[in-house]
Amino acid sequence: MKTFVSISLLLITVSVYGQKEAYPEPPPMTHEMTEFWTPQPEIVHPGKIDKAGFVSPPSDAVVLFDGKDLLQWEKAPDKSVLVKGKDMSKFKSTEGADTQWVVKNGVLTVNKQAGDIQTKQVFGDFQLHIEWRIPEGIQGESQLRGNSGVFLQGIYEVQILDSYNNVTYANGQAGSIYKQTAPLVNAMNPPGEWNRYDIIYTAPTFRSNGAYRTHPTVTILHNGILVQNHTRITGTTPYIGLPQVMEHGKGPVRLQAHADESAPISFRNIWIREL
Ligand code: MG
Repeated sequence: MKTFVSISLLLITVSVYGQKEAYPEPPPMTHEMTEFWTPQPEIVHPGKIDKAGFVSPPSDAVVLFDGKDLLQWEKAPDKSVLVKGKDMSKFKSTEGADTQWVVKNGVLTVNKQAGDIQTKQVFGDFQLHIEWRIPEGIQGESQLRGNSGVFLQGIYEVQILDSYNNVTYANGQAGSIYKQTAPLVNAMNPPGEWNRYDIIYTAPTFRSNGAYRTHPTVTILHNGILVQNHTRITGTTPYIGLPQVMEHGKGPVRLQAHADESAPISFRNIWIREL
């Protein structure tokens, strides 16, 4: 009898305790509950397309080259400062030296003897638009034909090359992260026609020991076609050697003057939106 009473009391206690802890039924969801109205996204006016198919920069872009001058650019420091150490103050040139690249008829052409150029301004995460053209009748093969490049934050090279009927190592053709990741497809226009890159880049973050906390990542459209899809960049992009991890902050957009015999390539319509 005693045992029966005890068990009954226990069951009643559990039952009461359970009722006490039960949460009330939430009110039914309405559509307003999952909508937020502020802040509203800023308005950006897209570029306009002219009859020749040229698309002007969006209204909030920093225009890096609009066909007139190279006021936003300077001669880049020697790349050896990159591999020697982590002193990024050397990496960001403050010389403001003349690029000696050629601006003519709204187009910027590489001066191979003058070396790389870079933006005076530095950037973190960004969306970059850049158009480039391999000259018609270009000679040379593999890496020695229309080679240039866009260095993201001055460090990570997105390859520029004449990859139209020109075989080279896959992770060194146009649209590759140089010596790391081949493009998903070859979206190349022939020499004489403009190519365009739209590059969405997320800068890395670093641990206190200089290793990546989060890797840099990049998405690239080549002529509107996806060639890199949120690709993880593993480090620097040297010609010889493995990628190295180097701690860095914001960096410039750097364009490559590649030392080879082929005719120099040209650029136009370069703009960037910092994210
Ligand atoms: Mg290159």
